[in-house]
Amino acid sequence: MSTVGLQKITKAFPDGTVAVDNVSLDVRDGEVMVLLGPSGCGKSTLLRIIAGLEDPTTGQLLLDGEPALDIPPRDRHVAMVFQDYALYPQLTVAGNIAFPLRLAGVSVEEQSERVADVAAALGIGELLNRKPSQLSGGQRQRVAMGRAIVRRPRLFLMDEPLSSLDSGLRAELRAEISSMVRDLGATTVYVTHDQAEALTVADRIAIMRRGVLQDVGTPAEVYGRPATMYVAALLGTPK
Ligand code: ADP
Ligand code: MG
Repeated sequence: MSTVGLQKITKAFPDGTVAVDNVSLDVRDGEVMVLLGPSGCGKSTLLRIIAGLEDPTTGQLLLDGEPALDIPPRDRHVAMVFQDYALYPQLTVAGNIAFPLRLAGVSVEEQSERVADVAAALGIGELLNRKPSQLSGGQRQRVAMGRAIVRRPRLFLMDEPLSSLDSGLRAELRAEISSMVRDLGATTVYVTHDQAEALTVADRIAIMRRGVLQDVGTPAEVYGRPATMYVAALLGTPK
């Protein structure tokens, strides 16, 4: 079981920027929740608060129903994939995926077993001995996902995982990443500014504007019955 509860979360930075403004949102067990909104609306900040990389100014975070703000990041069982995959260039694909297991002191045999499982699930089983420089953008992205899921996180956070790819490849990978995320079966919070990506990937979409949550619902709900003009414009709902 893995749920996230955001309760009246606000994040103000020292320079006065209010990046997240009184956001309350529940992510259900096993669902893919997409945070959608334009650049600067507070998506990454919210994700970083869930991961423990940032503390909110006020508000509470619940993981599996328990207050989690005092839990250090490494004990939250949360994995995060960033937009720049930050693979280790000197390590092979296998080495990159195994890296978190090595840090955790998992035995070498178990490392190779788990790496093989994850790589097979992501369709990169043939690439284990390659270096990142020998991979395509889409393949690198899978390696980054593999490295994130190999420790079997209870919660999977993805921050614009497709945004460093060109638009053609992004369109191609949209459906693919959606089925990969679904196959993982892990509770997922997926950040994007791309409405087509959001509508493809999401079980539910949470729409943000300037730190404020505007609307939450299934793609059909937010597309068909947008709460505000802003939501309608963002999703391209016909008038
Ligand atoms: P998004 O991911 O939706 O593009 P962010 O969460 O990165 O948005 O940023 C939200 C707002 O907070 C932006 O105005 C950004 O400039 C600001 N911001 C982010 N991080 C910091 C920081 N460390 N200090 C000051 N302002 C920040
Ligand atoms: Mg961001």
